[in-house]
Amino acid sequence: MDFALNHTQKMLIDTVRRFIAEELKPLEASVDAENALAPETARAIFEKSKSLGLYALNMPDEFGGGGLSAVDTMLCEEQFGHTSDILIRRAFGDVFDALLACKGEQIDRWLKPVVSGERVCALAITEPSAGSDARAVKTRARRTDSGWVLNGSKHFISDAECSDCFVVLARTGEKELSLFLVDKALPGFTLGKNQEMMGLRGTTHNELFFDDVPLEPVALLGEQGDGFKIIADLLGRVRLAFIGARAVGKAAQVLEMMTEYANDRKQFGKSIGEFQMIQQMLADSVIEINSARLMVLHTAWMMDNGLDARDWISMVKVQSSEMLGRVVDRGVQVFGGSGFCKDLAIERYYRDARIFRIFDGTSEIHRMSLAKSLLRNGAPLYDIHR
Ligand SMILES: Cc1cc2nc3c(=O)[nH]c(=O)nc-3n(C[C@H](O)[C@H](O)[C@H](O)COP(=O)(O)OP(=O)(O)OC[C@H]3O[C@@H](n4cnc5c(N)ncnc54)[C@H](O)[C@@H]3O)c2cc1C
Repeated sequence: MDFALNHTQKMLIDTVRRFIAEELKPLEASVDAENALAPETARAIFEKSKSLGLYALNMPDEFGGGGLSAVDTMLCEEQFGHTSDILIRRAFGDVFDALLACKGEQIDRWLKPVVSGERVCALAITEPSAGSDARAVKTRARRTDSGWVLNGSKHFISDAECSDCFVVLARTGEKELSLFLVDKALPGFTLGKNQEMMGLRGTTHNELFFDDVPLEPVALLGEQGDGFKIIADLLGRVRLAFIGARAVGKAAQVLEMMTEYANDRKQFGKSIGEFQMIQQMLADSVIEINSARLMVLHTAWMMDNGLDARDWISMVKVQSSEMLGRVVDRGVQVFGGSGFCKDLAIERYYRDARIFRIFDGTSEIHRMSLAKSLLRNGAPLYDIHR
């Protein structure tokens, strides 16, 4: 078992780390204050990142992506976690693996332009009455002589304002769900209001409305009725990256801030880092961050080796997101009143961290799925020698 990073991995991490420090970190405070990233700035960071080969690193090189393994993707995604959601999206691209279900004409119309950054694509599953119970979606696609007609609505769709197209989960039969590639420019498509969030400022989260949206036959992604299977098969890597690895990166960033502050801040004539209760918060945080990172990388290794990692992804989703919540809560505590004050970045990290336990399946849903799997399969979930 070799845990050492090779030369290429070190170079990649260094490049991403430097890009974030030099190009993205300086933008974070203004994006949060203005709740927006200016289009010209978005374009500039996209072009710089693209020229360094850092866009869509997770996607196969045959479609123009970085062609990274799952392990290497997670190493980069951990670094992405050090910065804000909207800056990651514009600089590195949140390209969903679900698009890998594209076939034939779909590759040139949707997959390649999204991987190149020419188009942005968002994932639209959630509806006001179908959140955790995604199988209850009411959006319906009806077959016609010329393709399909889409009716219904979605909400909380991340990056919807910037997106040119959406992967939409819709009902195609009583018990049948399918995915569709839906262009924003189509007649009958309406972008609803931006639903303001506690954190992730600068990223938009919108309602979508479909009113008799005509879809060509080519808009069906994968086979009819395979919508849920595609999501289950292809969203795992995204979940591991966007939640697991980014949570580790975000927590590591917070720990760095806490440690620096604990050394600098003096009370009772000493650095607060000399007080054992502060030390415990630092020590617990470093233990939990390193445990979560090992699980992220182990799960990515399983994926690279063709093993079924679905349960592990659920374990990582819960562990990393809850670890981040605890670390950032301690972070605010170590900073005292300054941790609650908007003048310092720690307050923003606290707000941005909360959603990690909710989106991409809540902690409760992942625990429920893990428990079911454990009751069914037993030892293979915790005894890696079986
Ligand atoms: C900032 C943000 C970005 C998002 N981005 C997207 C996006 O891009 N695309 C998209 O499709 N969706 C997106 N979502 C939606 C997100 O995935 C859902 O909010 C999430 O899946 C939870 O669904 P819900 O909000 O309807 O909560 P509900 O499903 O109503 O859950 C409410 C509570 O009940 C609990 N609960 C529900 N069922 C059970 C159960 N069986 N057992 C125990 N507890 C249960 C939940 O864990 C939760 O605590 C986003 C949401 C937010 C807030």
